[in-house]
Amino acid sequence: LDATGESASAEEKQIDKALRPESLNDFSGQEKLVENLSIFIAAANMRGDSLDHVILHGPPGLGKTTLAYIISTEMGCELKSTSGPVLEKPGDLAGLLTNLNPGDVLFIDEIHRLNTVVEEYLYSAMEDFKIDIMIESGPSAKNIQISLHPFTLVGATTRMGLISAPMRARFGINFHLDYYDHDTLQRIVKRSAGLLQVEVDEKGSREIARRSRGTPRIANALLRRVRDFAQIKGSGKIDLAIARYALDALQVDDHGLDEMDNKILSAIIDKFQGGPVGIGSIGTAVGEEAGTIEEVYEPYLIMEGFIQRTSRGRIVMEKAYEHLGKPIPQQHSG
Ligand code: ADP
Repeated sequence: LDATGESASAEEKQIDKALRPESLNDFSGQEKLVENLSIFIAAANMRGDSLDHVILHGPPGLGKTTLAYIISTEMGCELKSTSGPVLEKPGDLAGLLTNLNPGDVLFIDEIHRLNTVVEEYLYSAMEDFKIDIMIESGPSAKNIQISLHPFTLVGATTRMGLISAPMRARFGINFHLDYYDHDTLQRIVKRSAGLLQVEVDEKGSREIARRSRGTPRIANALLRRVRDFAQIKGSGKIDLAIARYALDALQVDDHGLDEMDNKILSAIIDKFQGGPVGIGSIGTAVGEEAGTIEEVYEPYLIMEGFIQRTSRGRIVMEKAYEHLGKPIPQQHSG
C-alpha cells in the first residue's frame, strides 16, 4: 500500500468497508471537521433541506469516502458512488443524476480527474438542480431541460490544487482532512481489533499506530498482517514483541515512511545538500509531480519533523539523517 492509495487491492477495499465507521460518533479524530459537519447536518435536517455540496480534500486513506457514507446515513438518504475518470461524457452523469431520490448523496471520488465537458455539465446540476438532455438524434434532435431532485454532491480529492476555481465555488462546504496523530490511530486500531475479534494490548496497538504513516487505512491493513503473525508465530494476541517482529518482517519502516517518503528525504540530502530546495526540483529528482509531493507526501514529513518549509524552500531536519543512517553535516542547524 503506497501513500497515493493506488495499489489498494480488491481485498483491502472489502476490508475498508467492513471496518468503516457508520456514524459521526464512531469516526475518530478530525475533531473540528466532525464538529462543524454535525452542525451543518443537524441544521439541514431541521429545515428539511438537502445538505449543501461538500468537497473533502486530503491525502488517501484518511476517511473521505467514509465521511461521504456517513453524511448520507446521517441525512437518512442513499449514496450513489462514482469517480472522476469513470464519467467520460455528460450522458454518464445524466443517468446517475436522474436516478437520485430527494436528498441523496452523489459521491464523486477523484473529482479532480473529471474532464472539462463533464465538469461544466455538472455546474447547472449543482446550482439549479437542472440539466439539459438531448433527446432523439439526427435532424429531429433537440435539447430539453429537466429538473432534478435536490441532492448533495460530495466530491473527494487528494489534489485540491487541480480543482478549478468555478468548481470550488460551487461547494458550500469545504473540508480538509489531516494526517492522524498516534493517539487517534491507536484508538482506531483498538476499534478495528474489536471488530476483527483479535486481542491487542496497549503497547502492541501503539506500535501499529506509530508505524501507520498517520493513515487509518494503513493502520487497518497493518493490523490484519500483524494478526496473521500473532496467530502463527505467537499466542494469537498482539503485544509489543509480536507487533515489532511482524512489522520488521514485513519491512514496514520504523516511522511508517513509505518508499517515496524515503526517496524524497534522500534526494534532498544527497542531491541538494540538505536544502533549502524548491518543490519543483525535488519533484524532478524523484520523478513525481510537484503538486502530489506538496499535497500528499510533504504534509506527513513535516508533521513528523523530517522536513521543514522555509521561505527559501524545503530543508531536512536531523531526524531525517538519523532515520536514513547518514552523517549529519557539521554546519547543520535543524
Ligand atoms: P479515503 O476515501 O480518504 O481514501 P477511506 O474513507 O476509504 O479513505 O478510509 C479508509 C479506511 O480507513 C476506512 O475504510 C476506515 O476503515 C478507515 N478510517 C478512515 N478514517 C477513519 C476514522 N476517522 N476512524 C476510523 N476509521 C477510519
